Amino acid sequence: MIHEVWTHAAGDSMCIQLQVAVQPGYSFQLSGRKDPRSREWPQRLHAAFRNFGWKWPGKRVTALVTPSSGACLGPEVDLALAVAVLLGSKQWGACRPGGFFMMGRLDLRGAVLGDAHSPLPMLPDSVGWGCVPLRVKEAYFSAHPTIVGVKNLQEVEAYVVHGLPPIFHGHSQVKATQTFPVLRLSSEVQQLLEVVASGGHPVFWMGPPGTGKTQLARALWQVDQELSKADVPFVEPIAPRASATALERYFQAAKGGHLFLDEVGEWPLKALEALRKPLERSIHTLYYSAATNPCPCGFAGHRSRSCQCSAGRIEAYQRRFSPPWLERFHVVGHVHAEEEDSLVIWPEFLQRIRWARERQIRRAGRLNAQLEDEILWSSLQLQTKAAMDVREWQQRRGMGERAVQSVCKVARTMADLDGLQWVQPRHIHQAVHYHWSSQGITSKSDP
Ligand SMILES: [Zn+2]
Repeated sequence: MIHEVWTHAAGDSMCIQLQVAVQPGYSFQLSGRKDPRSREWPQRLHAAFRNFGWKWPGKRVTALVTPSSGACLGPEVDLALAVAVLLGSKQWGACRPGGFFMMGRLDLRGAVLGDAHSPLPMLPDSVGWGCVPLRVKEAYFSAHPTIVGVKNLQEVEAYVVHGLPPIFHGHSQVKATQTFPVLRLSSEVQQLLEVVASGGHPVFWMGPPGTGKTQLARALWQVDQELSKADVPFVEPIAPRASATALERYFQAAKGGHLFLDEVGEWPLKALEALRKPLERSIHTLYYSAATNPCPCGFAGHRSRSCQCSAGRIEAYQRRFSPPWLERFHVVGHVHAEEEDSLVIWPEFLQRIRWARERQIRRAGRLNAQLEDEILWSSLQLQTKAAMDVREWQQRRGMGERAVQSVCKVARTMADLDGLQWVQPRHIHQAVHYHWSSQGITSKSDP
């Protein structure tokens, strides 16, 4: 597949189009405007990609510049080439529709740089959106809402693939946005999102690339922004830097806000395990969630695209998530983007969450996810049959006490959403359905 990107040639100050094809083989060729410096591109971009866990593909990469006559291209087209290569080699999920403009140099850490001194040409009409360095955004595109200013490649990916403007990555604290996110969800995912947001339950999203897992994490954060009317931090750690001290810093930065662990399937096992203790401790100080692809290629269980992985590979991939790791999450949400998904009506959605939270605060002074020790069992208020059902499930599945508590807390939140004092058996059954042990994850339950 060929990817087309608009960019800016500094030498003759015009907009040019870069077409990039990524095919089997191993070479890099730039046609159209010969430049001896172009030989450095694979090496340089490889270094920039590495910082985020991507790489220059072991493929034949052919780039064609139109118009073909003009000044030689310099590093100002780094970003355009990088985006086309990352999309073309499928390291990024599917790109948003419409023509786009990418401009900026990349340093070896993947930061997007660029200066705002030369006048920029008019963008072609076919350009609907794009990414430019922050300073260029301020100087030339401040009135252009769909051309965003970016700091690094990760922000570019979030915008290119998920449509998320770069406001919440890393340690940056951001202002609450006035507009609600546009979310199209199946009724099951919408219901799950409502439960998770109401009770503050940590959720583990599983789904193919491009199904909006990051958007769901961001939606949960926006619920808190909206209900607290305050700036709530949103922190997304970068996996390759997940040393113990780096993780500690992420937890500090996310205090009182949201910590989102994305693509945890790609994290080193050591980093995953290093998260277990801090996650357990942090349930009272922040909200956390995580997301992963279901398999290495990302498309296991997808309805229209076929998964390239063997059953053994899928199992090995999912086994990376040990039961003690999975126990940190009260629910697992499987996400599939479907045509018939319906739009989330935010005002109503928020109102239901607000009511459910008020019930919890009145009863126990905290959200259900944070119930523990003596107040846990007195706050749950399980109907006798519901209590029997959860114990029956525990014995049948050989689940530990922690799993029982998770299921009961989630069921409590569902009863709160229903406005009921007592948790009914159906709430327990639904909470069991959301628990990882019922979700086809290959990790065996703890004894
Ligand atoms: Zn696969």
